[in-house]
Amino acid sequence: MADNVKDPVCGMEIRPEDAVATEEHAGRTFHFCSPACHASFVKDPHRYSHPAEEHGHEGHGGH
Ligand SMILES: [Zn+2]
Repeated sequence: MADNVKDPVCGMEIRPEDAVATEEHAGRTFHFCSPACHASFVKDPHRYSHPAEEHGHEGHGGH
């Protein structure tokens, strides 16, 4: 059973061996389903390197 990874750009789950491109950012390796997704990530890594689930992180200071 292989662990799927998530393409951070389009959100698609892929198998690591199916990734057409990988990129290391902030100590993590990201996998991409297509060269276009990889290009988008390289252009703006910060936008994609944070999981979507962490939306609303800003303004969370009152804990
Ligand atoms: Zn993709």
